[in-house]
Amino acid sequence: MAKASQLHCSFCGRNRDEVKILIAGQDGHICENCVEHAQEIIAQELTAKLEGANGSANFKLNVRRPAEIKKFLDEYVIGQDDAKKVLSVAVYNHYKRVNNKQQPDDVEIEKSNIIMVGETGTGKTLLAKTIARLLNVPFAIVDATVFTEAGYVGEDVESMLTRLLQNCNYDVTAAERGIVYVDELDKIARKGDNPSITRDVSGEGVQQGLLKMLEGTEVLVPPQGGRKHPEQKMIKVDTKNILFICGGAFDGIDKVIARRVNTNAIGFSVNKEEQEHQRKNLLHFINAQDLKSFGLIPELLGRLPVITHLNPLDTETLRNILTEPKNSLIKQFTRLFELEGIELVIDNAVLDFMVTKALEYKLGARGLRSICESILTDAMFELPGTDITSLHITLDYAEQMFGKSRLSTLKVA
Ligand code: ADP
Repeated sequence: MAKASQLHCSFCGRNRDEVKILIAGQDGHICENCVEHAQEIIAQELTAKLEGANGSANFKLNVRRPAEIKKFLDEYVIGQDDAKKVLSVAVYNHYKRVNNKQQPDDVEIEKSNIIMVGETGTGKTLLAKTIARLLNVPFAIVDATVFTEAGYVGEDVESMLTRLLQNCNYDVTAAERGIVYVDELDKIARKGDNPSITRDVSGEGVQQGLLKMLEGTEVLVPPQGGRKHPEQKMIKVDTKNILFICGGAFDGIDKVIARRVNTNAIGFSVNKEEQEHQRKNLLHFINAQDLKSFGLIPELLGRLPVITHLNPLDTETLRNILTEPKNSLIKQFTRLFELEGIELVIDNAVLDFMVTKALEYKLGARGLRSICESILTDAMFELPGTDITSLHITLDYAEQMFGKSRLSTLKVA
């Protein structure tokens, strides 16, 4: 065996005492300088390869078949099968269109921007985010309520593209085939079904502003967001291939659907039980006409041709959300404890308790996280650094911890 003083880096030849770290391999050694250098070479090579293949280094488009997209979504989002199917097909078609080099006399495939209707906290954002992750495209979440018609206080609709650009480090090519999720679309609905004569700053004006963007146009985007400024250098972004997914709760839309469905002869030919079932599942029947009655302008609906809905979360779904997704809350907390060398065991009764509380306080899936935290925070505070190696959460313990938390002081609605 070589003596410590004779050891040297097999790549640069430096002696042991000339370097900080010398890593041993089977027949040689490598020093920290050479590791760093090798890393740079690898990074450069990989970037060059990716750029050659797809134009944009970090965003190599990964389009899958609809069934594969849905399977991926199943790993992260519980239930919502209808929405998953519709989204998978729409997204697949969208990127097929993007990849298709159109010939002059080719059939023109239109963009399939999407509207998702469903109560808050049912997984709309999660679905959009998960799809963007699978496809490896830039993704931005924007809130429709912050936009105002140009010239009024608030953000211009173009600022959503600033967000998209920022999220991909200003890689314009990648941003131009990214996904923008526009939340709270229902909040910019025209109030009432009749067009207003006075100017409607927050509603219809913004819908008009969105039109061109959704259809596809070249937009000059202020790189740092905010208002357009004459001195600011703008970035040109073509929105032709950007997929817009819009979401909203559309509170009260079930009544609109009911009105339409009833007048459309459903209910005459089916029995009472079936009628009741249909009443509960009114969202299944949602169409563009209902959204128009709700206050979206027809031109905007024309540019959002795919409509789907998400179901409210019931006990079973909430219970599954706790444990089933690949990165479920319970898996995350278990891992956090594991990293401290502590095995976390949670009784099933505790999981049921969490779901009951989420439903009782009408917190939905979002509330599950705070409930989990209220039960586990004390342990996460006290256990690190002790020699305790396992933690068993029983229903008694959970009830006690939850009782102490601020959440339990919430009034049941
Ligand atoms: P929305 O956009 O519909 O208001 P989100 O997608 O933001 O709701 O959901 C909030 C959180 O609740 C998510 O981050 C996720 O943890 C959880 N969640 C909601 N619905 C589901 C679901 N169907 N499957 C898994 N997790 C869900």
